[in-house]
Amino acid sequence: MIYAHAGGFGITIGAHRLWTHKAFKAKLPLEIILMLLNSIAFQSTAIVWIRDHRLHHKYSDTDADPYNASRGFFFSHIGWLFVKKHPKVIEKGKTIDISDITNNPVLKFQQKYAIPVIGMCCYVIPTLIPIYFWNESFTNAFYLNVFRHVYGLHVTFSVNSVAHIWGNRPYDKTINPTQSIIVSLC
Ligand SMILES: [Zn+2]
Repeated sequence: MIYAHAGGFGITIGAHRLWTHKAFKAKLPLEIILMLLNSIAFQSTAIVWIRDHRLHHKYSDTDADPYNASRGFFFSHIGWLFVKKHPKVIEKGKTIDISDITNNPVLKFQQKYAIPVIGMCCYVIPTLIPIYFWNESFTNAFYLNVFRHVYGLHVTFSVNSVAHIWGNRPYDKTINPTQSIIVSLC
């Protein structure tokens, strides 16, 4: 439970609020903590996530949106990861300014050492903790952590799928995104 939330904060506070939208400023120690929490969630590297997310906001629910909800529930949820990117995503993706992100030393570090850093944070450490501290079997520890990772992915995907279809639209009724209590609770 703690680990699932920690990874969630690496996405919501780190990749989303801080790095994609610059909603607040963070000093180096907080950036490092958020980068490690982001690695726990393992939703690609933060740099790739942020570029896709800025693209998503700028071209929301059009062909240039990587998770274009107008292509249906399955595509916006997980299908977009299984098919080649729409040419518009590639074309418009090149026009998104992410120089602040590609010059960020903490995010450059995560990108450069993605396999060891994300591998340790997302898989090795959470599997070893229950084995070491309370003698959990490898099988239980490993698969419960796989469940934790997959759960976190689906909750995030639901922001692009469920919360673009079901829910109320208190701010702008003409756009797809909604306030979804179910997604918020998850
Ligand atoms: Zn956003």
